[in-house]
Amino acid sequence: MKDNLDISKLIRPELLNLKPYASARDEFSTSSENMTFLDANENPFDSDLNRYPDPYQTKLKSKIAQLKNLNPQQILLGNGSDEVIDLLVRLFCQPYQDEVLIFPPTYGMYQVVAELNTVNIKTVNLDSEFQIDISRAIHEISDKTKLIFVCSPNNPTGNCMNLEDILKLLNEFQGIVVIDEAYQDFSDQKSSLKYLKDFKNLVVMQTFSKAYGLAGARLGMCFANPDIIKYLNRIKPPYNVNQLTQDVALKQLKNTEEVQQQINILQEEKLKLKAALENVDWAEKVYPSDANFLLVKVDDANKRYNILLDHNIVVRNRHNQPGCHNCLRITVGTPTENAQLIKILNQFKL
Ligand SMILES: *Cc1c(COP(=O)(O)O)cnc(C)c1O
Repeated sequence: MKDNLDISKLIRPELLNLKPYASARDEFSTSSENMTFLDANENPFDSDLNRYPDPYQTKLKSKIAQLKNLNPQQILLGNGSDEVIDLLVRLFCQPYQDEVLIFPPTYGMYQVVAELNTVNIKTVNLDSEFQIDISRAIHEISDKTKLIFVCSPNNPTGNCMNLEDILKLLNEFQGIVVIDEAYQDFSDQKSSLKYLKDFKNLVVMQTFSKAYGLAGARLGMCFANPDIIKYLNRIKPPYNVNQLTQDVALKQLKNTEEVQQQINILQEEKLKLKAALENVDWAEKVYPSDANFLLVKVDDANKRYNILLDHNIVVRNRHNQPGCHNCLRITVGTPTENAQLIKILNQFKL
């Protein structure tokens, strides 16, 4: 339990009194009927998109809140999770001074965003089972550590982090623990959303880019204590989630059955692909996956990568990531795409 944490003590002091840009649509929403809107210098002729979008995505958030069993005040939406990561680093980390802790091999954007914001990175590599080395992690935490990024299920390894270790970080760390759950819909491990009520220092990220099939729309979700959301709202660009994206996301949330069917297909396909890869002589290990991709250790990653490319199949070469020597990351495709991949794998057994 950590419910007496004072969030205002964690955020960058100069942001405490930042006066946010007050947009026209902050003051009046165009959903109010019988009003004439002459306040935002928009073109008044209707094009479906002539008005600025709702800066707080009220409709979309209330639908998401309902689905996740949360309160809309616990939600911030971003232009992809990548914007959420950037807002978190900017809210909590003082440039040239503070640091974030990450556990490689992991999602590359945590490091890029920290570097862009001149915030130091501390790394503790995952152990041989791709789990957090918790005693080293706790040891690396200092007064300057403001954020810890935990990716679970982790990209590119595909596995979930041990819940015990996550809880230990939440309990022992006085800063913010961000759990990136981009692949949660493919996992058997339960979401950490249920711990939001116990830990004020927990931030959970999810996205519409993976299971929800809207990578092109750019919509990331951030769930946290309302105090954190309040500050994030003050620093975000006013119209960061455009109208088209809000509309398409609302539509997709009415399609949850179809999305679930697609997830079920991908889970079955993942097992088929795993079995096929385990039959290939040059594939040395297929790692367990709680995501929609498989990490595979092969005899020579560059060689196998290029052979697949020669057959018009693009996978991700993760050879240069710590602990991923000679590893390829293969996304589970449609049944047709996977069959094509398996056919090629079988042609090149040696
Ligand atoms: C794909 C992915 C995301 C999604 O980022 P978006 O900006 O929402 O598309 C986030 N985190 C991880 C670990 C990912 O692999």
